[in-house]
Amino acid sequence: MISILENLKEKLKEKGYKLTPQRRATLDIIMNHQGKHLSTEEIYDLVKTKCPEIGLATVYRTLQLLDELNLITKINFDDGCGRYELKNHIDDHYHHHLICLQCGTVIEVEVDLMESLEEEIEENYNFQISDHKVKFLGLCSKCK
Ligand SMILES: [Zn+2]
Ligand SMILES: [Zn+2]
Ligand SMILES: [Zn+2]
Repeated sequence: MISILENLKEKLKEKGYKLTPQRRATLDIIMNHQGKHLSTEEIYDLVKTKCPEIGLATVYRTLQLLDELNLITKINFDDGCGRYELKNHIDDHYHHHLICLQCGTVIEVEVDLMESLEEEIEENYNFQISDHKVKFLGLCSKCK
C-alpha cells in the first residue's frame, strides 16, 4: 500500500498543484488525529502551531482541495460545523457513525449491514444504488 503522503503528492502533481508546507501540515494534522472528526476551526488551530503564518481561508481551501482529491471526506454531525476525516480506504466502503444526542460522543462503526437493505431497495424500486450515507442518532452507554 502506498503511503497517504505519496498518494497526496501524486494526486497534487496530476492536477498541477504543489505540495506546499501548508498543505502538508493540514494533511498531517488530520492523519495524526484519526477518529477525532476535527472541525475546520480545530484543524486551523492545530495547523497554526506548525505554520503560524497560515490563515483560516487557506486552511479552508486546503481542506476543500484534499476533499476534491478524495484524500479526506467531509462529515456532517448536524452540530453546525464542517468536520473532516481521512479517507483511508479509497475505494472501500466508508464507516458509519453513532452520534450521542446528549454528550455529542461519536462512535465509529466498521460493520456494514446495509447490503441486504440495498438489495431489497434495488429490487423493489428498480433503483441502482451506488452508495449510502447513514448516521445513527441516539444515546451512548454513559448517557442512556
Ligand atoms: Zn469517522
Ligand atoms: Zn452520550
Ligand atoms: Zn454502509
